[in-house]
Amino acid sequence: MADTIKLALDDVFELAKTALTGQGFSEEQASAIARTISRAERDGCESHGLFRVPFYVKATKHPATNATARPVLSELATSVVRVDAGCGFCPLALETGLPVLADKARSNGIAALAINNAYNIAALWPEVEALAEQGLVSLAFTAANAFVAPAGGIKPIYGTNPMAFGWPRSGKPPMVFDQASSASARGEIQLHLRDGKPLPEGWAIDADGNPTTDPEAALAGAQLTYGGYKGAAIALMVELLAGALIGDLFSYQSSERDSVKSGAPFGGEFIIAINPETCASAGSSEGRVNTNPLAHAEELFGAVLSQDGTRLPGERRIKARERTAVDGITIPASLHQQITEFAG
Ligand code: NDP
Repeated sequence: MADTIKLALDDVFELAKTALTGQGFSEEQASAIARTISRAERDGCESHGLFRVPFYVKATKHPATNATARPVLSELATSVVRVDAGCGFCPLALETGLPVLADKARSNGIAALAINNAYNIAALWPEVEALAEQGLVSLAFTAANAFVAPAGGIKPIYGTNPMAFGWPRSGKPPMVFDQASSASARGEIQLHLRDGKPLPEGWAIDADGNPTTDPEAALAGAQLTYGGYKGAAIALMVELLAGALIGDLFSYQSSERDSVKSGAPFGGEFIIAINPETCASAGSSEGRVNTNPLAHAEELFGAVLSQDGTRLPGERRIKARERTAVDGITIPASLHQQITEFAG
């Protein structure tokens, strides 16, 4: 058998969806997850593509998981909306909440969405990109499981805690960054383990606190934040926004809840959307260089890109999108077999 299998992008959605419905996910939950996985494969984000299907399936082993949950939306205030994912998965909760968040941000200038009780195994760029494509500046935060040691410590407390930011651009894809507050995403360490590759230095320590490049020792020890105490401050902020602020779990509480050791983070996601037109029209224009935020931003992007060796965050994904539309994607044959077996 060949080591890898080539798939057309159109096949990714069906493959993921059929596997998940075969494992008891509702059509709605499975379709929303499969759309998220397809976007990741389309954009060359392997660690959030089909590779994640077994993680979604493993999360259903927890007795409280509801793979047929219907998210429930409620308005908490004029500008604040909540979606209770009902112990289901984040993609469907996002599809439920984002349109309402966008409407509220457009009419009120700024709005926030709290997602609670969700398994979040995905990247955050799809939600900020979707909002930025509608002309909204957007921020998203989620905690994870206890994977990362605090600055100076050796025991994991924080999650890999990503934050993502989206900025609309006229006639171009939005500028989007999405980054873990750890030196690497957890999925990258799992991919290194799968592929038998050593980790770059500075990603992790072993259980005794010694620096390690061994993926297995890293998974048993702790990941490190990027930039030492500065990344740790971001990780702390993400815990507070996606945990304490919206009444949901911290990463270490998600780990304590994970009785089946699924590794699937459970808890909240917090998203803010801002209408740039509202902000630009606020207050006095005296001394302001440009009251059109998007045009002003293009000056900055131009200044950055005028230097050799630079690029804007998100450009790698946009390029990958062009490539995968033509070439499709390649996945390990063993993963393809595992996913096909899930479908029964
Ligand atoms: P990376 O370090 O690969 O990239 C972080 C950001 O930096 C990206 O937006 C990337 O853009 C940008 N970037 C990379 N290189 C450059 C460059 N030379 N110039 C300008 N911008 C650059 O991501 P992470 O490993 O930190 O995170 C990976 C993913 O894992 C994220 O999508 C995150 O949401 C997800 N994650 C999810 C978790 C969960 O619990 N749900 C937990 C932790 C992480 P580009 O894409 O164009 O390369």
